[in-house]
Amino acid sequence: MILPNFAYVRPKSLKEAIQHLASDEARIHAGGTDLLGCLRDDIFSAKKIVSLAELKELRGIYPTKEGGLRIGALTTVTEVAGSKIVQERYPGLAKAAAEVASPQLRNQGTIGGNICQKPRCWYYRGEFHCLRKGGDKCFAFKGENQFHCIFGSSSICYIVHPSDIAPALVAFDATARVVGPKDGRWVPLEKIHVLPGVDPQKETVLKADEILTEILLPPPAPGLRSSYRKVRARQSWDFALAGVALALQLKEGRVEKARVVLSGAAPVPWRSKEVERVITGKRLDADIVAQGAGAAVEKAEPLEQNGYKIPLFRGMIEEELLAIVKA
Ligand SMILES: Cc1cc2nc3c(=O)[nH]c(=O)nc-3n(C[C@H](O)[C@H](O)[C@H](O)COP(=O)(O)OP(=O)(O)OC[C@H]3O[C@@H](n4cnc5c(N)ncnc54)[C@H](O)[C@@H]3O)c2cc1C
Ligand code: SF4
Repeated sequence: MILPNFAYVRPKSLKEAIQHLASDEARIHAGGTDLLGCLRDDIFSAKKIVSLAELKELRGIYPTKEGGLRIGALTTVTEVAGSKIVQERYPGLAKAAAEVASPQLRNQGTIGGNICQKPRCWYYRGEFHCLRKGGDKCFAFKGENQFHCIFGSSSICYIVHPSDIAPALVAFDATARVVGPKDGRWVPLEKIHVLPGVDPQKETVLKADEILTEILLPPPAPGLRSSYRKVRARQSWDFALAGVALALQLKEGRVEKARVVLSGAAPVPWRSKEVERVITGKRLDADIVAQGAGAAVEKAEPLEQNGYKIPLFRGMIEEELLAIVKA
């Protein structure tokens, strides 16, 4: 299908952009790598496209005086992956960004767009009027569901959240600035995405006239180690079959604090508090690591074709926990 007609505006200020978003069926355009595909495939429609391209204040990576980092929403995925300061302070985030899609998509795609991108369920992306598009049925439940979720569906919608970057941001306890017509608010990344049990037609808590403007990363705590591991079906670009973002604070060989977040597992970046509970306060020896990895999948609810994700997550988490101790 060719792109349908729409008005295209390039506002010069955030205020102006938000005013444009108040009109019926207006959509934000950042890098356009996901948005244009959605419009072309008729997943949703748009009467007005609001480009953020002129909003230079939404670009760049800046250290905060407290020792953290601000990343503007229009910063490209390539810039995040290649930033020295991100690599030094938040290596798990740099790694996650480097694992996103292909070089071309990383050059064009932005961190804000990556967090707000639409799911990749093939029924949703195809000509199926499923529940997430306002229909009354989930086609994946009894259909082709090998890439769908094993946690968090509420037996409603079985998408997996597609971003590699968002799980890493949740692991670092990042917050996002969201600005609307009246004011702005800070939302923990952990609370940005919406589970199907809350609303099966929304992916984020943002309203139609709100813009995610920046990400704030807290200063890395002493002894913080981080990583991101992604398993995909093939070696070239692909979304995560399974992934894990780790941010562990280690002291004298013990885990003081742990944040473990799974990708390819649930409709949102999935914090595995079960693993965190098992490993906190412990030395990461082979036994504890195996217990932690086992705990990660204890509550999994696989569908007919994605049961393979259980041993995949268990093995991947085990390997990554052992690797982070040696790093
Ligand atoms: C072939 C392909 C493979 C991919 N593989 C991966 C992968 O392996 N891992 C991965 O993480 N991603 C992957 N992606 C997704 C890709 O990273 C995203 O398309 C990209 O990051 C989105 O950024 P963008 O700036 O182009 O967003 P856009 O396409 O401009 O926007 C995406 C969505 O977010 C909204 N939006 C954009 N910016 C904002 C903002 N600041 N505030 C509020 N809403 C906003 C838009 O309205 C739109 O709905 C893939 C995409 C493609 C097409
Ligand atoms: S998993 Fe969600 S997006 Fe996919 S068909 Fe079911 S309701 Fe639609």
